[in-house]
Amino acid sequence: MATIPEQLKQFGFGYDVLSQKGYRVIEGFGFIVHLNISDKMYTLRVPCAVRSPEEAAQMNGAVEAYLRNPQYSLKSAGYDGRMISMCYATKNMVLNLSDNLGTLVELCMNTIRQFNAVPVCGSCGRADNLSVYGLENRVECLCPQCFSDARSKISEKVREQSERVENVPLGVVGAIMGGAAGAVIWLLFSLMGKIVFVAGMAAAVASFFAYRRLAKKVSKLGLILSLVIGFVMMLIGMYFAIGLDVFNGLKDIGAPVSFGEALKLIPDYIRLNTGAVLFNNIFGVLTYIGGAVICVMQYRNDNKIKGRAVLLASDNKI
Ligand SMILES: [Zn+2]
Repeated sequence: MATIPEQLKQFGFGYDVLSQKGYRVIEGFGFIVHLNISDKMYTLRVPCAVRSPEEAAQMNGAVEAYLRNPQYSLKSAGYDGRMISMCYATKNMVLNLSDNLGTLVELCMNTIRQFNAVPVCGSCGRADNLSVYGLENRVECLCPQCFSDARSKISEKVREQSERVENVPLGVVGAIMGGAAGAVIWLLFSLMGKIVFVAGMAAAVASFFAYRRLAKKVSKLGLILSLVIGFVMMLIGMYFAIGLDVFNGLKDIGAPVSFGEALKLIPDYIRLNTGAVLFNNIFGVLTYIGGAVICVMQYRNDNKIKGRAVLLASDNKI
């Protein structure tokens, strides 16, 4: 099946990876598709205005009528005086735009023509020459003035951020706490006799996000530090989990030792049960790698959206 960006392209829509939204300008109107991939839904939004509240109410009635038509299978639809929105929930296993996006665009355009609606800026609400812009992790349909205002606000923010200092010690504290949470999950899984699948991922992700939160800024060093700390904490969790196995195992066969002694017996235990120990822990370690990949992607995304203020589409450019 075609990917989401390919499906959007079939309908002349562009896809903005950073905000996960589709966008297109049709006859001066900005169309934005908000994708909810996990819930297999998407919402089409078009900012536009009519001349009076009475007309707005009539237009809302017209849009809501689509909602009652089983042919379109809409989840919600309406017009609030500034924006038409139509939410479609796909019945397929995965989000599929090609079965209905074209129809929804057509319904929107028909309604717009029927009520002589005009395109308006999503921010100030004035009718003007509109384009779709990518602003940090958002996509917005704005007039040139609002875009220019938004752009200065963003560059102000970037200046502020660059003056901010990364608080490495506090970040490290966060990473240790986050990693410890992963270690605890590892122990709990192991205590329940389950194979430790997600605990590695939890250690990596919690470490990185806690570092990011407390350090207020993440450099490459911060990224590496948080991932190393997450890994070490995960190993500590693994160490105690194996220690518990030894402790419980010896108790079961009637040769109890203290938990401290059980920890000392770990190397022997591993030597005698290499296969089982490997099998019980390899998945957790592998998911750590998956978690680390998520963190690196988030780090790169953070840097990509920083200061972003670009034109995505206007009437003559997609
Ligand atoms: Zn505006």
